[in-house]
Amino acid sequence: LIDRYRDRTSNSRDLFEEATDVFPGGDTRAATYHRPYPSFIESAEGYTLTTADGEVLLDFLNNYSTAVHGHAPEPIVHAITDQVERGNALGAPTEVATELGQRLVDRVPSVESVRFANSGTEATLTLLEVAKAATGRERVLKVDGGYHGHHPEVDVGLPSADHRGRHPENVGTETVAYNDVDALKDVFAEHGEEFAVFVLEPILGAGGMIPATTEYLETARDLTTDTETLLAFDEIQTLRLAPGGAQQRYGVEPDLTALGKVIGGGLPVGAFGGRREIMDVCHPERRSVVHSGTFTANPATMAGGVAALDMLDEGAISDLNRLGATLRQRVTEIASAVDVPLTVTGDGSFFQVHFADEPIDRWDDVPDDQVAKRILFMAMRTEEVFIAPRGMGNLSTPMAEAQLDTFCDAFETALEAVEAANV
Ligand code: PMP
Repeated sequence: LIDRYRDRTSNSRDLFEEATDVFPGGDTRAATYHRPYPSFIESAEGYTLTTADGEVLLDFLNNYSTAVHGHAPEPIVHAITDQVERGNALGAPTEVATELGQRLVDRVPSVESVRFANSGTEATLTLLEVAKAATGRERVLKVDGGYHGHHPEVDVGLPSADHRGRHPENVGTETVAYNDVDALKDVFAEHGEEFAVFVLEPILGAGGMIPATTEYLETARDLTTDTETLLAFDEIQTLRLAPGGAQQRYGVEPDLTALGKVIGGGLPVGAFGGRREIMDVCHPERRSVVHSGTFTANPATMAGGVAALDMLDEGAISDLNRLGATLRQRVTEIASAVDVPLTVTGDGSFFQVHFADEPIDRWDDVPDDQVAKRILFMAMRTEEVFIAPRGMGNLSTPMAEAQLDTFCDAFETALEAVEAANV
């Protein structure tokens, strides 16, 4: 597989070599790196990526779910360019930011008041500051396997963090098992009054694309209310699940929500919001949380976000979710037909494959199958279908059954490669 990849991607290899002179490891983003080197993209449109080697890939990654309408959709490109032509990052507010803020407040009932950031990392970082200022407490509770970006307080309880020897106690963060109601009750019984906030993804994303059970979310809601801890959902990935995000789909309302990805029309973005009296700690005259940022609420992102959300209406979301359910089902059937033990997790338009045939409800259940996942990725890539190296992907609104057919054909071939590798 690697040889076939190298044969087809000599331009990318040259570009990667050039890049290694400038960037440590040849890239500036951990998620896009893979061995032997990633393909460079020259252009993208709809559900396709055209590489520097002239290959046209069917994109089932969509910049880790950001490009929910595929690449360069005309209404979004138009909105962004129109804004940039009239000036960008002006050092003063613009109405278009209020328009995007209004859309978020309208869609997510628990978000009464919102502020923008430039990435998901920055959104969760500031959300934690808001929670601390609003409660007068300092500690954070997160789940094992929960990913909220790369600032120290949340960069624990993850395989990559363990690898680097980062421990929760060093940053004042406590971690608790995901989808384990008893563990959650225990940690709240012992430390409940210490936490400013319990932050979790309603679908564990990087930790294996595992939806939270309703029981877990409801227990989290009750325990946080009882101990006056704030409950925060990181919906940076999951807003695409329903107009009001996973909190609407699963029927549990948090106090604070972090948003990102689809809300910026493909430009860098993050946001955090929640109940008005909590968010008021950001009021500039209170100076309790001083939240600023040179590029915060930059008008190009705001204009792109308005266009993207207007396209992501209830009909578009239900089509995406229906296609997602079909894809998860078809992939499961292909694996069982060729007798490969496989479990597909996810919800809505997300999928993640795991090479194990046990149910995967908790982070502990995720098998140690990194090698098989990498082979799957490389084999899919050779079939010109692009997913995350960790076997995860998602759909975009331009897609239809025909793209699922292509995906499934490639998947069947790729499973044979995984089988043959016998890892
Ligand atoms: N939280 C979640 C749930 C995410 O999926 C991500 C990004 N994958 C982040 C936070 C961090 O966002 P960003 O990469 O924009 O900093």
